[in-house]
Amino acid sequence: MVLFRCLMKGHCCKKYWIPVTHLDLLRIEIYAKVNIKPDMLSLYDASLYEDLQYPQIVFNSNKYFLALSSKEDGSCIFLSKDGKCSIHPYKPIVCRFYPFVYIENDNGDIDIDLNDNAIGECPGIILDGKPIPDNIRKEYLRLAKARILELKLWKRVAEEWNSSAYSSKSFEFVADTFLEFIMSRAREDMNKAYATRSLDSIVMF
Ligand code: SF4
Repeated sequence: MVLFRCLMKGHCCKKYWIPVTHLDLLRIEIYAKVNIKPDMLSLYDASLYEDLQYPQIVFNSNKYFLALSSKEDGSCIFLSKDGKCSIHPYKPIVCRFYPFVYIENDNGDIDIDLNDNAIGECPGIILDGKPIPDNIRKEYLRLAKARILELKLWKRVAEEWNSSAYSSKSFEFVADTFLEFIMSRAREDMNKAYATRSLDSIVMF
């Protein structure tokens, strides 16, 4: 059905907003050596994306999805002038997954499929009429398991934040506190969840 190799053309980096978890941000901070600051983050009003199953963060009693900021032209803040991702080896899992998706079946199995929206958009896709090769499928299955685990951990962090008094304040007012909070939880989760492996080895391939 499909072969894929990321050509780093940056098409997807101009088209989509990028939801992130605390562990995505910690990976960027540790391995890409980027000091994460509040202005690198954006909030997307959750009420506008009702179909999106993703942990929501509350500020000023409104629900949001946490994402990377965009530049004025709408492209991701990590897209460099040469059109490549400046944090490519450590980019968020959602970027790493594109142009595939994972589907969790009722019996607990996970399937990997092509993201329909990427067909005709992503130049790295080669439709060859054959099934997704086993090596690609295995890599994305491993990534899907990491993604599912990290979303569970992110949900817990979001719930903890949402039940705190800070959630009644605006992001602008508590941005530093929020960032400190999620990064400290990320370090704890990294040590608990990935005690025997480094955080980058989970998603690198
Ligand atoms: S993090 Fe990198 S791959 Fe993801 S949208 Fe930004 S520039 Fe593109």
